[in-house]
Amino acid sequence: MSTNLKAIESNYGIRDEYGHLIGGEWVGGASGKTIALLNPATGETLARIQAGNAADVGRAVAAAKAAFPAWSQSSAAERQDLLYEIARRLKARLEEYAVLETLNNGKPIRESLYFDLPNAIGQFELFAGAAYGLHGQTLDFPDAIGIVHREPLGVCAQIIPWNVPLLMMACKIAPALAAGNTVVLKPAETVCLSVLEFFVEMADILPPGVVNVVTGYGADVGEALVTHPDVRKVAFTGSVATARRVIQYASANIVPQTLELGGKSAHIICADADIDAAVESATMSTVLNKGEVCLAGSRLFLHEAIEEEFLEKFRDALGNIRQGDPLDPATQLGAQASTMQMEKIESYLALAIEEGATVFAGGARSADAGLAKGHFVQPTIFTKVANDMRIAQEEIFGPVTTVQSWRDEDEMMARANDTSFGLAGGVWTRDLARAHRIARKLETGTVWINRYYNLKPNMPLGGYKQSGFGREFSHEVLNHYTQTKSVIVNLDEGKL
Ligand code: NAD
Repeated sequence: MSTNLKAIESNYGIRDEYGHLIGGEWVGGASGKTIALLNPATGETLARIQAGNAADVGRAVAAAKAAFPAWSQSSAAERQDLLYEIARRLKARLEEYAVLETLNNGKPIRESLYFDLPNAIGQFELFAGAAYGLHGQTLDFPDAIGIVHREPLGVCAQIIPWNVPLLMMACKIAPALAAGNTVVLKPAETVCLSVLEFFVEMADILPPGVVNVVTGYGADVGEALVTHPDVRKVAFTGSVATARRVIQYASANIVPQTLELGGKSAHIICADADIDAAVESATMSTVLNKGEVCLAGSRLFLHEAIEEEFLEKFRDALGNIRQGDPLDPATQLGAQASTMQMEKIESYLALAIEEGATVFAGGARSADAGLAKGHFVQPTIFTKVANDMRIAQEEIFGPVTTVQSWRDEDEMMARANDTSFGLAGGVWTRDLARAHRIARKLETGTVWINRYYNLKPNMPLGGYKQSGFGREFSHEVLNHYTQTKSVIVNLDEGKL
């Protein structure tokens, strides 16, 4: 790391207050009310954002609608240039964006630097390349030529969560813009500093109105956005509970939706696994982004033959995790992103005991006095977990892994799939046939074999069951941002 991160923090020039970005201008909100963005490691206020309302949403949708005709007619070269330029600028100031992400979200700087930013940049590069690949099709008939045009949809409402804001923003706006749509983006009200600074920097290259940003609470901004009659597509990432509302709102205007929701993924360790590598993977899966990851392998299934050895090593590994100042490059476990999230995790730590699980490691707020001001939780392992306990079924979204043991593969698979979620899963074994058998049987959108959290640009990401529908991170998402028009040209003039 070449730059002194603390120096970046003090020099970056975070604004005291951010407006909405509407039609290329930063404007104040109609309500005049603001919301504080906090540093969850210290409790300090970093900046204030607008508490938007339906009037702000109305202006933003109007700006996006006005920008659509020109943007939808732009050339592939123009759209490609814009997306590559965004990627280039993100790379040029990667460390600064990483600091902003860490300051507001509490994630370790090493993750912002090596996970969030590279993956966000990858999305812009992927869809810059895809802009030229978007084309229609012709079909030949004896008496006609069929032409299938691929057209953008119009104004897209995009709603993102707080856990990986820059990456979520990237995987939403990059394909929408590549396909010629315009956007109104609503970031999360607790964590969006990096996203707002991104748009401050990109304002001079984004044609006015092509991307608009309205900040505020979900009930005020999100609902007004999704129900707006000029919105032609909704892309939502967040919780299942909110998605149920979003589906209802969007259904009123018959608007297509893609939903990227939660997970409770099975991480399956077989008796013949490389134990040390699997322990490292389970450790990473527990602490990455403080467990605030939809893909987290939070249900660990240990074969009984290796359970004891695995658990000892797993506890040792979590015990050696360095927790503390998220800006310290040595930190591996940062601060939970908000007070609300911290309280939610604490309620699950208490619930686990009520449900009869055993605390094998952690199980409480971090006791270290140096961490008292922030939202720090001990990395936690619960054993003696039954699959029907709420801690095994519901998303805790903290550094908490539940453990179940298994002997028979079919019985274990039934349990692994006995969840309302279906986002991801992992399996560790040296037996290739078993690995593929388990991967096939897992009812999830992604399966990793002998590694976890291996995101690849252009590998579709999305859920089965209540983890959502639609796929992002790949060219496949372009189908969700376009519609086809069939034009049939008659060649036989004598026929009706
Ligand atoms: P959330 O559902 O509370 O909020 C998500 C977004 O929706 C926020 O911007 C919020 O303001 C907005 N919102 C809230 N109420 C709304 C309403 N009534 N109408 C419209 N919008 C509304 O989720 P969260 O707590 O911010 O995010 C965590 C969730 O996101 C977890 O379940 C996680 O698994 C999921 N997630 C999924 C993926 C994925 O790719 N599948 C990625 C990241 C996060």
